[in-house]
Amino acid sequence: MSLAKTQNGKVEHDEVGLPNQPSPPSSTPHQVQAPSVRTWETPPPLVPAPHLEDYQPIIGAAEIDELRFLARELKGKTIKMVNSTAVGGGVAEMLDRLVPLLGELEVVAHWDVITGGNDFFEITKAFHNALHGAEYQLTDAARRIFLAYNEQNRQRMQFTEDMVVIHDPQPAPLITSRKDSPGHWIWRCHIDLSSPNPQVWDFLRPFIEQYDAAIVSSQSFAQKLPITQYLFYPCIDPLSEKNKELDDAFVQKVCDEFGIDRSRPIVTQVSRFDRLKDPVGVVQAFKLARRYVDCQLVLAGGGASDDPEGALVLKEVKEAAGDDPDIIILDLPPWCALEINALQRASTIVVQKSIKEGFGLTVTEALWKGKPTIAGAVGGIPNQIIHKLTGMLVHSVEGCAYQIRYLLTHPAFAAQLGRNGREHVRENFLMTTDVRRWLLLLRISLQNQRS
Ligand code: UDP
Repeated sequence: MSLAKTQNGKVEHDEVGLPNQPSPPSSTPHQVQAPSVRTWETPPPLVPAPHLEDYQPIIGAAEIDELRFLARELKGKTIKMVNSTAVGGGVAEMLDRLVPLLGELEVVAHWDVITGGNDFFEITKAFHNALHGAEYQLTDAARRIFLAYNEQNRQRMQFTEDMVVIHDPQPAPLITSRKDSPGHWIWRCHIDLSSPNPQVWDFLRPFIEQYDAAIVSSQSFAQKLPITQYLFYPCIDPLSEKNKELDDAFVQKVCDEFGIDRSRPIVTQVSRFDRLKDPVGVVQAFKLARRYVDCQLVLAGGGASDDPEGALVLKEVKEAAGDDPDIIILDLPPWCALEINALQRASTIVVQKSIKEGFGLTVTEALWKGKPTIAGAVGGIPNQIIHKLTGMLVHSVEGCAYQIRYLLTHPAFAAQLGRNGREHVRENFLMTTDVRRWLLLLRISLQNQRS
């Protein structure tokens, strides 16, 4: 029997229509309650952005006071954020929260999005992959198209703010406007620059060198540049649909809908179906661990239906899983933040067995939910997981299997990891910490301008 195996964003329950039944003992197939409303099949309505005060119960009044104190000298100062998309993707999600919070602190924040045709975005996608290290042959035509769209955007935009922040490579050439602008120019790079394709990086570098400073997301992404580089960790919003507290009834409903038995340990990895996230390795580790401890595996991902490689990886994962009823594979549409949140909260252990990683926001999300987390020691993950303190770092399938088994049989230690992980996120990787970093940078920049 297959449980909630999915294809193309559709959830297929073999047992849809069966009455609700109590969970059976371990390892036997269990029956799934027929879902009345399949919440994940249609996008939910937009939710209004939270206010600063809403964060007080999470970070405490002193932290909010600190933000207000830091913003005191910045009242009326202006900052412009420029990126390449208004919706979708982590940067837009982050700006969507950052801009109103700065506004509440009376820093006037503007957010502009550059425009371009498909040809521009195909090139910038290729640049993005190349900066992550992919093979790419940069042609004169690509250079011309990239620069032409940037010039078009530059001509329609004004840069009168005290600080102009250009996000990622797509709008980097806007720096050409710096000479006519009074502000401090910052390049905020969100992508992994640890081994960039030299052709693309050599093409972009002359633009980057004209900025006053660059911001990267991990020490290992810093480049040899003649300008100051700052480290700003990525962050999550604890009040977003993905991370807010949920009623247990909702968590239960999501588990019922997907055929997950909460009376048994649940090991989860949430990730795109991408080889670098090693979902097949997770299946192998799970199968090894389950020889010794009872557990189920949930692999929740998305995007496989519109990404040919994702579909291939999903197929490989299904093959590796075989007809194991304890492996539940979910290919979810992109708007399933609440469901992902519920799956993470229902988990006994969260795994992120990546082979290569940017920062690994799924790790941040799991730690924030107090989950004992096992993750590959790659990219920004070691910034988040301090081995044996805020989680467990692993380097192999066997290592991952060992840690699953260890944490499931040492619940007190696992719970302590979860508590430590949550505190680590509270201090370093929340939206409010990001606001504090921007306020400090704005103050430093304005001071430098004066001196
Ligand atoms: N995510 C999601 N649905 C999925 C898979 C992932 O919403 O099916 C989210 C996940 O919760 C996280 C983000 O996408 O917020 C992935 O960020 P991460 O840095 O972990 O990896 P990336 O996909 O950017 O490499």
